[in-house]
Amino acid sequence: MKVGILGGGQLGMFLSIAAKQLGHTPLVLSPDPTASAKKFSDFTLGSLDDPTLLQGFARNLSVLTYEFEHLSVSVLKKAGVSPLLVPAIDALIVGQDRDLEKAKFRSLGMPTAPYLILRQETDLDAIANSIGFPCILKTTLQGYDGKGQRRVKSLEEAKQAWQDLAPHPLIAEQWVKFDRELSQIAVRSQSGEMAYYPLVENVHHDGILFSSVAPAPYTTPSLVTKAQSYVQRLMDELNYVGVLALELFQVQDELLVNEMAPRVHNSGHWTLEGAVCSQFENHIRAITGMPLGSTEVKLPTAMVNCVGEMPKAAVLNSIPGAAVYDYGKEARPGRKLGHLTFTAADEASLREKLNRFAESIGKKS
Ligand code: AMP
Repeated sequence: MKVGILGGGQLGMFLSIAAKQLGHTPLVLSPDPTASAKKFSDFTLGSLDDPTLLQGFARNLSVLTYEFEHLSVSVLKKAGVSPLLVPAIDALIVGQDRDLEKAKFRSLGMPTAPYLILRQETDLDAIANSIGFPCILKTTLQGYDGKGQRRVKSLEEAKQAWQDLAPHPLIAEQWVKFDRELSQIAVRSQSGEMAYYPLVENVHHDGILFSSVAPAPYTTPSLVTKAQSYVQRLMDELNYVGVLALELFQVQDELLVNEMAPRVHNSGHWTLEGAVCSQFENHIRAITGMPLGSTEVKLPTAMVNCVGEMPKAAVLNSIPGAAVYDYGKEARPGRKLGHLTFTAADEASLREKLNRFAESIGKKS
């Protein structure tokens, strides 16, 4: 099948590789001439905001998917490509707007942090008597990797953030003192069959994912049941096909749903080495109507993002057996340039390896 992918970053690259391995032809559309997916796909350089180009790109495709959710829905509709889109356009609409996303979670009985939608500056006055300070202000649209958000401790700081953050409206969320962050990645087939990867424990630095450990240690059956039930409710509601990630905050035995990504997710990169079938392969399987692959874990696995620079050889040598992925991107501060995964026979030795690696680059894991 001809599988179109909108966006050619590392997610588009891993999707292209998986599509090829399954006997499909991956075609990528990206505005970046140095896109990571270029070498692994039939590549078209061009804007994702050009309906005519998009229409031409989609002409002979069997299916069209995407590696990120901040695509223009009106452009997709104008180009007439929404019938080809999998996951379908409804998932994209909900996933790209924190207002719609949180409302959807609430309507499905999925708990979230208390929040307010701020449409005008005077709405900031309501924070003190509702969710309270400190809180976190986020743009409802276009935010990712900690961009477009700020923690504020007072009305004055909130007013400054209102000026600095765009586009409006904003969402104000209560600051959650979570025990840890988790994610639940699942895949749903065209017939509604579900498969779940285990809960993953994630650590963020400056809003950017630093490390993931899978399966997350210390999970209780109750946490697993909640996470799976939330993701299933959401996917059934959206009649979703493909891989979806839910980002969660654990507070004691409760899970608060932070956000959804209607696509493959950075906290699922560990599946390349750690699961029988990776998230990328399962996404392609689902969207092309193939049977789902096994989400079973092979060994406890950790993934670390390489942000701003790739680790030096000496650092890599201290983690024997690590799989190193370099996305071939130009180095820039705060940019994800690659990732490492390593496995271990048990959770304790995995933690030891992860701590050693984090220490060697001066970070906390
Ligand atoms: P997001 O873009 O919503 O995924 O936020 C990026 C990161 O900021 C999260 O992974 C958390 O580490 C932190 N964060 C976001 N929202 C909250 C919140 N309401 N309370 C505490 N930390 C948060």
